[in-house]
Amino acid sequence: MKQTEDIILKLLRIRQAVKLSESPLMSEEKVQILRDFIINNRRQIPSFALAHFDRLEAAGKQGLAKVEGGRCAACGAEVPQEEIEYLLENKNIGVCDGCYAFIYMPDPKFDDPNFFETLLS
Ligand SMILES: [Zn+2]
Repeated sequence: MKQTEDIILKLLRIRQAVKLSESPLMSEEKVQILRDFIINNRRQIPSFALAHFDRLEAAGKQGLAKVEGGRCAACGAEVPQEEIEYLLENKNIGVCDGCYAFIYMPDPKFDDPNFFETLLS
């Protein structure tokens, strides 16, 4: 997996882990597993990317959003066609002109609905 794809996947999982860890239904033991997971994954993301993501998420915005129908899924801003091609060809991360979220093209490899089920079982 390309490094940028790895960053996208880790940011998506960190966000999911944070959400799960805040659920009142989670046992203490599982919350601890999630916290360890978050710490370990944050260590593997370049600090500039993490800082940008954290700043947006802390402000209640999305730090990372997919491009859907040519638009940023977070704010709806149109993503220029050249940018979309660039993201597709290079499997890269871009930045939305509207909300500054990192943007990426959806890919089946980012959808892993059983990941946390497996991690917490
Ligand atoms: Zn946006």
